[in-house]
Amino acid sequence: MKSHSSLKRRIGKRPIVIWGARMTGIGLVRYAKSNGIDVLAFIDSDDSLKGQQVNGIPVYLPEMLAKIQVDHPNLILIVAVSIKETEILLVLNALGLRNLDRLVYSDFSDLFYTIDVVGTCNLRCLSCAHSIEKHNVPRGLMKYQDFTRVVDKIIAESNLITHISLYSWGEPLLHPKIDSIIRYLHDRNIAVALSSNLSIRFENRLEKVIEQSPDYLKISTSGYYPEAYNNTHAGGDVNLVKSNLYKLRYLLDKHKAGTLVDVNYHLYRDNNGINLEKMTELCRELGFVLSTVHALVMPLERVIRHCEGQPDFQTKLLTDNLLVDIDEGIAASKMDRNSIGVCGYRDNQVNINSDLTVPVCCTVFNRDSNVVANNFLKASPADIQKRKNLTEICKKCMSYGLPAYNMGSNRAKWDEIAATKESRDVGQATTTLDGVLNSLSISPSSQIKRKDIA
Ligand code: SF4
Ligand code: SF4
Repeated sequence: MKSHSSLKRRIGKRPIVIWGARMTGIGLVRYAKSNGIDVLAFIDSDDSLKGQQVNGIPVYLPEMLAKIQVDHPNLILIVAVSIKETEILLVLNALGLRNLDRLVYSDFSDLFYTIDVVGTCNLRCLSCAHSIEKHNVPRGLMKYQDFTRVVDKIIAESNLITHISLYSWGEPLLHPKIDSIIRYLHDRNIAVALSSNLSIRFENRLEKVIEQSPDYLKISTSGYYPEAYNNTHAGGDVNLVKSNLYKLRYLLDKHKAGTLVDVNYHLYRDNNGINLEKMTELCRELGFVLSTVHALVMPLERVIRHCEGQPDFQTKLLTDNLLVDIDEGIAASKMDRNSIGVCGYRDNQVNINSDLTVPVCCTVFNRDSNVVANNFLKASPADIQKRKNLTEICKKCMSYGLPAYNMGSNRAKWDEIAATKESRDVGQATTTLDGVLNSLSISPSSQIKRKDIA
């Protein structure tokens, strides 16, 4: 039975290892700590997490699992991810760990929730819905009171809820009450995931956020030098991003925050050489995780238009810079047999837009027939699910194999395709000290004078 008490009963006094060191796993750690459960380690197949500590718990690659089991024969493994569970269970079997006592977190929880507290972004990346100029999507913020009502409803309707993500299409750090929003969730023992482009002049908002120690903060970026970054993160300033990364390190240390900072680097042809090396170096220096993802085209409506032979002009502009174009990505993802005819987004995930509408899933953007509830506060989970199952766009999406494309399934094949493309990395050594200081609104000469006085 799905419930908090049945999970607690199944674990008993045994130590656990959690497969999945990102949001679902981090939420489970919060739950474990408040229930006196000993967490020995995280397991994650993502190389970028190897050797990291998340919430003070070490992360190991799957190969270490057998050794941990020798030292702790009574451990229980809990697979805690929102999608790709099947893939993990196959890896476990391939590792010869069929007999390892294991649980799947989603067997005990109902749904994974995302609340898009901000309906807009300060940037206009070509690969993103925000580059569409004319659309019918409200650009407002979720009111704080509405947010609290949404959370209260989620808690009342859930058997087990350990984390909530605060981003889908929006930039959550633009919300003036984002610190209170994080606090509201933490007061209810719910872990918080944020994502930001970090290309924002924060004043004191970043410090207010870090004071609340959000559990996970993804930073999306696409270059180290302006020439590469500006091609894709349109309207952003990578020097401002870099200065904010330094500030973030300082604030994390100052407030002893346990936030996992995951710099998510979108790979393009113009940034996969020296730009990537330099950003990797910077993240190493600052103690942040650097994970990579092949840039793909969003939202789903745009990909469908491409599949129907009517790509919009942003897609055409972007295509030449993609390491894996839409058709190649779809073909690569389809080769993953586990993803055929399956959608990991529809059944166990609920997104709530800033205007309280509920889309069929996080990949769609428009407010039309993709919306399955006009007001989350007035819709039951059963109604939402029923409407999802009737949505027309899912049929098209499935027929083109797009759920797997959106997940970037079969990463090894995407890497293989990308390796056949010539890198056109741009912007080497063009960032100057002046550039960084300008983004901080500090003139180089005033810096020098202060240093001299000191
Ligand atoms: S920073 Fe993120 S949310 Fe904003 S436009 Fe770019 S991809 Fe979209
Ligand atoms: S089938 Fe496509 S549109 Fe429907 S929920 Fe899945 S990803 Fe979203």
